[in-house]
Amino acid sequence: MGAYAMPEGIRKRKLFINNEWTDSVTGEVIRSECPFTRQVWAEVPAGNHEDIDRAVKAAMKAFPDWSRTHGSERARLLRRLGELIAENAEYLAVTEVMDNGKLIAEMLGQARAMRGWCDYFAGAADKIHGETIPVDVPNMLSYTLREPIGVVGIIVPWNSPLLLTLWKICPALAAGNTVVVKPSEVAPVSLLELAALVEKAGFPPGVFNVVTGYGHEAGDALSRHPLVGKLSFTGSTETGRKIIRNSAENFARLSLELGGKSPNIIFADADLENAANGVLQGIFAASGQTCMAGSRVLVQRSVYDDLMQILLDKVKSIKVGNPLDPETQLGTVAFEGQFQKVMNYIRIGLEEGAKLECGGRKADVREFPDGLFIEPTIFGHVDNRMRIAQEEIFGPVASVILFDDEEDALGIANDTIYGLAAAVWTRDIARAHRMAQRLKAGTVWINNYRKISYAAPFGGIKASGYGRENGWQSIHEFTQLKTVWVDLGNEIKNPFQLL
Ligand code: NAD
Repeated sequence: MGAYAMPEGIRKRKLFINNEWTDSVTGEVIRSECPFTRQVWAEVPAGNHEDIDRAVKAAMKAFPDWSRTHGSERARLLRRLGELIAENAEYLAVTEVMDNGKLIAEMLGQARAMRGWCDYFAGAADKIHGETIPVDVPNMLSYTLREPIGVVGIIVPWNSPLLLTLWKICPALAAGNTVVVKPSEVAPVSLLELAALVEKAGFPPGVFNVVTGYGHEAGDALSRHPLVGKLSFTGSTETGRKIIRNSAENFARLSLELGGKSPNIIFADADLENAANGVLQGIFAASGQTCMAGSRVLVQRSVYDDLMQILLDKVKSIKVGNPLDPETQLGTVAFEGQFQKVMNYIRIGLEEGAKLECGGRKADVREFPDGLFIEPTIFGHVDNRMRIAQEEIFGPVASVILFDDEEDALGIANDTIYGLAAAVWTRDIARAHRMAQRLKAGTVWINNYRKISYAAPFGGIKASGYGRENGWQSIHEFTQLKTVWVDLGNEIKNPFQLL
């Protein structure tokens, strides 16, 4: 099968507020450049604080009715949305590839899997309830109500806009909140396409709104809007800090999915062939542009040469090319600024004295000479104190670090500001579980990498953020508890005494 066709002409989309398609107040637009053709392929409004205000007010107006709608009705709409996403999976996938240069194979997989999120949280929508509390007060009934929060502000990055937004909107809407989504200015189009499906599914006006715009304008306005009760943010650690500060204005509750520098740890007793595939999967899938990238590869000294040889043989056969071709294995990075950032880190690695084992340059792809392709790059003999071992590169660049034993591996793995994910490759089951307990990370994979599910909580610790997405836990992230006390026949004997 050949490459998927590129959309023709320039795709123009509008903001989606209160189930209406509108221009931004200023009429200004963002032109989205495709990272492999380097041509503008789409145009979306550059919304500002006034557009955000319109959207938040629409969401606030919709909240009382939506929150009182029975969960089974919210479930029906979510299931319908899932069906529509599945029917339009190819269209959505091509849209994201044009916007961020990730592989069509990866994006198709994501788009087809998205229905699972809609169905899982549809299943939750009519099962959200509080508890009866056996308080030690005679003749008193005490119970909790688990209630939606209100308007949820959702801000997402460019690397997987659709999937990461689904992680948020499915539990948020299932629980009875209304949402305002602010996509990244780098890859804004797919979330407006999602809005068209939300409209088609029949969600009431104001329940789901999308305002495209720049982070420092629309994102900033959403994160400090006084009517926003919860902010769910995925993006860089640096922006996460700004969001925390902004939330002080409105006391919005927060969940933050931030950056990572995840260790992929290979012990000498591991199945090296499988572990090498796990290394490739960890750092070259999605051109390394995933929060959970296994960008630090920790290898036990005795198998360093063997593993490196397997890796280098595999890297030689990686097919870099047209991201719309299902056979391609490495696409572009998403935009010029990211390309420069990754190339700069490669320079830094060389200056720091790491050994460049492969890659390190712009990759030549004849079909797209100006495309933002970067060769799969591996640095060997990296010291964990180097910047390429400590800072998130977010590109196809692996830093391989040697270790001697379990204690050494743990020390190196945990020596980072981040704590998103980690992987351990070993045949020793006791060691695998010991490591899982002692690694400071929100997710630990044993003899696998980059696995996620709508049913399994995902999130970070330390500078990788807080809060969890996916699983029942994420319903808790989008609800708040109220405690109710009902007197069943007591007299108030002393009004001045608490207990
Ligand atoms: P970014 O922080 O630059 O932007 C993320 C979003 O925040 C965008 O929509 C942007 O417009 C908005 N934004 C920027 N400045 C803002 C401000 N001052 N106020 C409010 N909003 C603002 O991140 P990015 O470069 O788009 O994405 C890459 C980062 O995202 C990486 O660090 C990566 O690790 C992280 N990420 C994390 C996860 C996770 O689940 N932990 C998943 C994917 C990506």
